[in-house]
Amino acid sequence: MQTSSPAEATAAPPLRERSEIPDSFKWNLSHIFPDWDAWQRTYDVLDKKITDYATLEGTLSLGPEKLLAALLLADEIGRLEYLVWYYATLKYDEDQRDNEINARRQQVQILVAKGGQATAWFNPELLRIPLATVQQWMAGNAELAVYRFAIEELYRQQEHVLDAKGEHLLSLATRFSTSPNEAYAALSTADVKHPTVRLSTGADVTVTYGQYRAILATNRNQADRATAFKALHGLFAGTINTYASLYNAVLQRDWFHAQARGYTSTLQAALHGNNIPEEVVTNLIETTKAGTGPLRRYHRLRKKVLGLETYHVYDTTIPLVEFDRKYSYDETLARLPESFAVLGPEYGRYLAEAISGGWIDVYESPGKRSGAYSAPVYSVHPYMLLNHNDTLDAAFTVAHEMGHSMHTVLSHAHQPFVYAGYTIFVAEVPSTLAEALFLQHMLSRATDERERSCLLQHAIDGIVSTFYTQVMFADYELQAHRLVEAGKPVTAEALGDIYFGLLKAYHGEAYDYDDLARVTWARIPHFYSTPYYVYQYATCFASSAQLMKQIVGTSPADREDAIARYLALLKSGGSDHPMAQLKQAGVDLGKPETVRAVVDQLDALVTQLEKEIS
Ligand SMILES: [Zn+2]
Repeated sequence: MQTSSPAEATAAPPLRERSEIPDSFKWNLSHIFPDWDAWQRTYDVLDKKITDYATLEGTLSLGPEKLLAALLLADEIGRLEYLVWYYATLKYDEDQRDNEINARRQQVQILVAKGGQATAWFNPELLRIPLATVQQWMAGNAELAVYRFAIEELYRQQEHVLDAKGEHLLSLATRFSTSPNEAYAALSTADVKHPTVRLSTGADVTVTYGQYRAILATNRNQADRATAFKALHGLFAGTINTYASLYNAVLQRDWFHAQARGYTSTLQAALHGNNIPEEVVTNLIETTKAGTGPLRRYHRLRKKVLGLETYHVYDTTIPLVEFDRKYSYDETLARLPESFAVLGPEYGRYLAEAISGGWIDVYESPGKRSGAYSAPVYSVHPYMLLNHNDTLDAAFTVAHEMGHSMHTVLSHAHQPFVYAGYTIFVAEVPSTLAEALFLQHMLSRATDERERSCLLQHAIDGIVSTFYTQVMFADYELQAHRLVEAGKPVTAEALGDIYFGLLKAYHGEAYDYDDLARVTWARIPHFYSTPYYVYQYATCFASSAQLMKQIVGTSPADREDAIARYLALLKSGGSDHPMAQLKQAGVDLGKPETVRAVVDQLDALVTQLEKEIS
């Protein structure tokens, strides 16, 4: 997940061929394998182990040693899969035009699928043994006891699994369960005819979503921004009943699955996997709605600074200050140790290792994968892919991905393989916290008031886009699903009413409203592809804001305690339910005060920005 914002950037470093980029700016995949021959040898070992695993079928009930043997072999397979998969994938991402490497990547996909089939017998076979028996086994076997949480989790997940006949029936529904999203993608992407508009400069622009974002973020002529807004949303308005019908299919499918599995609501069904109480989402929504004061103040400030008569949804991303300082990769990297110093020596040691070379692929080159990520290569180290272009956004991306990588490295170092991975519910906590620490450092070092204003706007836009907007989206999803749960009709009118109502509830008198904004819901891909997903961006953000408050804002003793609890969270990997992990770290997402930490953070940033700009 990227915080904020417009993709358009002045491409500072010229595009070079990969071979022309010095090795010090490239990751070193020989840390995984020296060459493809070594990769192939491990691939063959993995293949053999997968075959071996199938022979264990039917042995689990013979006792704790047999169960342990199966678990250990599964871990061994998992470990090798990391190496074989990531070597091929990271090589492929260096240049996606390389067909030979792509073929190898697909070769791993096929093997991993084979592994999935070869291990599929395990869960049903284990679940036929009473939990009490397995618990007895674990009590008498320390090595087996390591797997307690994973095993008990399997039994808990079982609560909503149907009998074989029921599961078979549901599996038959899988194909058409995905069709609303496929039809949405076809309608909004493959079949779409993007309109062309003429801007005030006389230039003709085809309004794709990317162009729309670019115009909103860079075009200082309000009429041009309005033109782009009307063109893009007019497109959705023209086929809004089709979008409503597809979204209704998503809602009906979710309610069908929830009821089939014995849940009382679609929200409950969505949260059961991570064992999250429904109050987390309702508290998030209610507390955020009650905390829109600073959001409105920010938009009023923008309207004033931009000198606008009226202020619309398309006026919300244009920069307040023009400032084009470059942030080179070397400078950004050099700032990280000081930014994260508060997190202590162990964090510092891993950070130094990450910076020292071979972990990060920095610059864009022809064929390289776009965007940024951190890849957790177990038993080696995380690798980070960047496309650094010397902008402020790019500098924050380095901090963000480093936050992910330090989480990975600490989790891998302190957890057994079975818990080395963490859930998405906690994943964006360390990355957003790293950004917050980086911001604090950058603000303390900025000598130019325009730079400080830019930094503040960057931070505020991050809160608006990853917190307020996502909570509003979560609220929309919840209300839409409730229409279906209550047996009410789902029409374009009803969906537009929900969305427009929310837009007004959040922004009040700070916006001037365009009727066309009613259709905005129709273009949000997450609503169709992954319902009840986006709230996790907001809960991560709230957790990170609450932690930041404790880490930097209290007495030295409390601070030390908060840092220790935070590091314990990073080291805990996936060894518990995410809510329990966060609670250990001092974050209770069921409480309004946790969510209010973001509201307070925004309030402080807006106050600071008001001062800088005046
Ligand atoms: Zn992220």
